[in-house]
Amino acid sequence: MNDRFTQELFHKFHRLYRGHDHPRSLLRHGFACGDGWFLLVRDLSEAIEVACDHAREPVPEASQVKEKFGGLRFYVGVASDRVHDLLERAERDSLKICEECGREGVLCVTQTRCYKTVCAEHATTFGMRPSQEFRHTIRYPKRSL
Ligand SMILES: [Zn+2]
Repeated sequence: MNDRFTQELFHKFHRLYRGHDHPRSLLRHGFACGDGWFLLVRDLSEAIEVACDHAREPVPEASQVKEKFGGLRFYVGVASDRVHDLLERAERDSLKICEECGREGVLCVTQTRCYKTVCAEHATTFGMRPSQEFRHTIRYPKRSL
């Protein structure tokens, strides 16, 4: 993700991303996904902070944000089920948003079996085709407060 988007997220959601400049943080170099997911990550970040404030619980610390198997992966430290529900929903939503440009997308695959969620235009650009067989869903390990 580009530097402007990255800094905006770090600045606006400084509680969630409070550990990003730690030398060993996996967020030290920002968000390992495309600019097309900026709004998704921004909305998720806001939803997490709002939900925690509303429930009077501490805002978790984001530890890593990346793309994997074409979907968003957003890892946090100890967090409530409420937060994990938000993470799972954003991960599902990411499979419908082009990681490059933010337009409507579908999970696509290359001939070498690399996965990425892209719009029709970017699928053509990258020589990808929609993935039919891929039904991978990740369950986050839940840790209670
Ligand atoms: Zn696109």
